[in-house]
Amino acid sequence: KIIVIGSSNTDMVVKTGRLPAPGETVIGGEFLMNPGGKGANQAVAAARLGGDVRFVAKVGNDLFGKQAVQGFRRDGIDTSPIFTDPQAASGVALISVDEKGENCIVVAPGANARLTAEEVSQALENAGAGDTVLIQLEIPLGTVEAAVRLCAKKGIGVILNPAPAQPLPDDLFPRLAILVPNETEAGLLTGIPVTDAATAEAAARQLAAKGVGHVVITLGAKGAYSFDGQQGQLIEAPHVHAVDTTAAGDCFSGALAVAVSEGQDLPAAIDFACRAAALSVTRMGAQASLPYRKEL
Ligand code: ADP
Repeated sequence: KIIVIGSSNTDMVVKTGRLPAPGETVIGGEFLMNPGGKGANQAVAAARLGGDVRFVAKVGNDLFGKQAVQGFRRDGIDTSPIFTDPQAASGVALISVDEKGENCIVVAPGANARLTAEEVSQALENAGAGDTVLIQLEIPLGTVEAAVRLCAKKGIGVILNPAPAQPLPDDLFPRLAILVPNETEAGLLTGIPVTDAATAEAAARQLAAKGVGHVVITLGAKGAYSFDGQQGQLIEAPHVHAVDTTAAGDCFSGALAVAVSEGQDLPAAIDFACRAAALSVTRMGAQASLPYRKEL
């Protein structure tokens, strides 16, 4: 099984001619409400690409949470480890997007910020060495650390997508099978500005020296740089006409988890992830753009 541990949000998107300045009101255009959150996006990506997915998350006792869970079920995800917190609202992201595609986002994490180490440990009770855990940083860092520690004890391979970017404690790295940062996150974790294969290699070497098994740095349209502790290589992304790169990184991480859990070797798994993510950027939206296995 692939066990995704992470956030679920409802994205509320308004298109606008220009973004408002502080104190200003602007009249926008179309309003869209979409399921989002990095954890949810990655769980949906993995399920659509053929993974047997369980999603560990927390929502509020409200309509947004119920709608999100219904959506996961439609994608065939096991939602039994999704907790409902009557004390909190479900996570939402308020997003304004202007004509150039520039955006302005405020996230109210709500229930996501209340997913505890105890709940994750309960959800992992029956998990074991054959499983793969995929996790991000939109839930409390203490919960992430506890989950990673527990997985290490149980022999479960952990894939960490360290997004959104934030510093991590040193003792986390040796417990990770695969670390999957994008350029920004790799830059923040190493202090090395990452823009291409050469700078990605330098950053990956530093992260591998901290004890990570494999480092996979995503490089947007350039593809992804893979480093196994000894050797590195750039795996190129297919050339596509990109229309919306929202959730490209989430698609990549979800796909990588599927390929790794199927026993594919890392270069093959990264190629699979690059092909899935390339398809996702040719379509609008976050979860709406996530591809199905038969499309690859
Ligand atoms: P994030 O979405 O976290 O910023 P990236 O921009 O690095 O992450 O994108 C993640 C992956 O999505 C890349 O490694 C690549 O495989 C794919 N991807 C992103 N943008 C493009 C693009 N323009 N063309 C083809 N593939 C892309």
